Amino acid sequence: MEFDLVLKNGTVVTAGDVFDADIGISGGIIKQIGFDLGAGREEIDVSGNYLLPGAVDAHTHVDAEFQGVQSKEDFYTGTLAAACGGVTTILDYAIPSPGQTPLDTVETWRAKAAPKAIIDYGFHVAVFQPDDAAIQQVPDVIAEGFPSFKIFMMGSFEHNLDGFMDMMAAVGRHGGMINVHCEDACCLGYLARQFNKSGKYGADYFADSRPRIAEGIAAMRAIGLAQVAEVPAYLVHLSCEESLESLNRARGKGHTVYGETRPCYLHLSRDLMQEKDGILFAGWPPLRESDQMDILWQALESGVLQTIATDHDGWSREQKKKFNKVDEVLAGMAGLETMVPLLYSQGVLKKKLNINRLVQVTATNPARLFGLYPRKGTIAIGSDADIVVFDPSVKKTIRAEEMHSAADWDPYEGWQVTGWPRLTISRGEIIVRNGQVLCQPGRGKLLKRKKFAESDARM
Ligand SMILES: [Zn+2]
Repeated sequence: MEFDLVLKNGTVVTAGDVFDADIGISGGIIKQIGFDLGAGREEIDVSGNYLLPGAVDAHTHVDAEFQGVQSKEDFYTGTLAAACGGVTTILDYAIPSPGQTPLDTVETWRAKAAPKAIIDYGFHVAVFQPDDAAIQQVPDVIAEGFPSFKIFMMGSFEHNLDGFMDMMAAVGRHGGMINVHCEDACCLGYLARQFNKSGKYGADYFADSRPRIAEGIAAMRAIGLAQVAEVPAYLVHLSCEESLESLNRARGKGHTVYGETRPCYLHLSRDLMQEKDGILFAGWPPLRESDQMDILWQALESGVLQTIATDHDGWSREQKKKFNKVDEVLAGMAGLETMVPLLYSQGVLKKKLNINRLVQVTATNPARLFGLYPRKGTIAIGSDADIVVFDPSVKKTIRAEEMHSAADWDPYEGWQVTGWPRLTISRGEIIVRNGQVLCQPGRGKLLKRKKFAESDARM
């Protein structure tokens, strides 16, 4: 049998193993792993490189709109940045416009992504109005392959408690998952009113307007509400010890609850917000005190947290600097291209987590939790050939002008890293080689995901 592509002499890394092998790929699928596999129409010697499962970034906003501002990123530039950084699947948040139903929201996102994406993608569906119409669509949305719904505990959450509980319960009954943004509406609302009244605007006040305790009490409440509604819960972008304590306690008692963090909470602290252009680093939740960074690394390494995801947004400098009030700033920053290299440089090389754990938190765990495993998230016979040829010897300085995001700045500008993807392979096709794109927009496929209840997700 001749393969379409053979990767020779690589070092394969999975969630549990590191071993040298060749990989034979045909029809976009991994067909053989071993030695003396036979010929390939294309053969590439990848000796000296790790072969990592393509990362699954379970939290992106590559085509975002907020405060009437459309992000510079779209599904082409966003997925290109992803591919260049070793991410081969994204799960983007489909955000409804006012009054839009979940099914219509999914259609809107499908239309944005289909002509542009170069890697495979799926959607979580955000819900702001948990009315009867939205709740009735839950089984259909899940059946179409979108088994995860997002609720925000800020904003109008308090005005719709009954609806949100009914929504969560419906998602649980039909085998889905609830993703929760944990920041308490009362705390945030009170502080924003106080700060705005006394003219405390801008970066200097932003982090204090969304304190750690607001995340802590929201996480504790989210876990309790999910328990009562009998739905698995996935707490997005946790940033501090207050929420980790609740997560750890609940997991210790056997509750089906999971936690995600973002790269910026591992690498950056709120001190940055006091520097020039500090407002660029505003996010929900905000960057925290530097002592929280070690706490998060430990939680990621030890298994308190299951995943890392970027919450990627592609705002320009100008867009971010346009808003000044603490409750109006544009939240978020780019991260898709740098997530895996930074985790390798700052985590694996500094012995904060081993390379198997890097694979677990960037690929295997998100694939399992969101119904994509074993098609995505691992290197195994029968899996999609989504493989990153990662060269651990490359030294590189991160420069926004060399990154592929449409944002004109990068939160890690000037950072030196060791290790970067050489080739990114999606379903057997080499889509990026040394930062050069080799494929056409629109080749990425929409993924139909399994329900949480039917996936191999317990962890
Ligand atoms: Zn987000």
